[in-house]
Amino acid sequence: MGRVALVTGGTRGIGEAISVALKGAGYTVIANYGGNDEAAQEFTGRTGIPAFKFDVSDYDVVQDGIAKIEEEFGPIEVLVNNAGITRDGTMYKMNFEKWDKVIQTNLASCFNSCHAVVGGMRERGFGRIVNIGSVNGQAGQYGQVNYAAAKSGIHGFTKALALEGASKGITVNAVAPGYVATDMVRAVPEAVLEKIIKTIPVGRLGEPEDIARSVLFLVADEATFITGSTLSVNGGQHMY
Ligand code: NAP
Repeated sequence: MGRVALVTGGTRGIGEAISVALKGAGYTVIANYGGNDEAAQEFTGRTGIPAFKFDVSDYDVVQDGIAKIEEEFGPIEVLVNNAGITRDGTMYKMNFEKWDKVIQTNLASCFNSCHAVVGGMRERGFGRIVNIGSVNGQAGQYGQVNYAAAKSGIHGFTKALALEGASKGITVNAVAPGYVATDMVRAVPEAVLEKIIKTIPVGRLGEPEDIARSVLFLVADEATFITGSTLSVNGGQHMY
């Protein structure tokens, strides 16, 4: 049995590709999801990867969900914080609910799940955590103060936790995807998407597998000297 890996939001889009890639590399993968039972069942049927439903934005629910996973599969050694949502709108039109929902789901979720696993990782002297950020957290994006703040927060969170884990065998890194062909991006109006693609030097959207590849690299047992870094996977759209 390979190391136990939990991928939040692991049943669709980028998370699905990460789950499948980890399984292919020999990990024992568990995917989490938030509410789309139909997609989760279809995913499990197709991949054989178990799916656990719990809301990553709810601290108590996450502690309970992770405890159940660990009881059944053993300690989580690899955690990929991938679950995320958008609720776009300019500041002028954004209400507190949209702000809060995005911060809780994209950023507070990283605290919720890391808090549940970091103690065990410290005791065992091994852990791999990858947080999925975004090019829009690095560069900002019109109509996304909530999402950009959450994703930018992930990058700071990653560096701080990396410092804490460094002497304990725990690496913590972020991946910052550019625009990737998933349901999240399909929600963007076509005219806007066409304009975005023109800003991507490789001339196309990313595929979920492009992101999965970078996660596999970062969680490898051998990747002991990479921590606190952000790997940008964006087709050259934003370099810094
Ligand atoms: P997606 O296709 O919309 O899939 C989102 C996944 O997250 C689903 O499995 C969903 O579960 C789960 N999820 C959402 N809210 C949740 C909650 N409260 N609790 C547990 N699970 C929840 O999204 P994606 O495009 O693959 O994005 C994945 C990650 O990459 C996100 O963090 C996103 O911000 C980031 N990202 C995406 C892009 C892009 O271009 N697509 C670019 C940069 C960064 P259900 O199926 O149950 O809804």
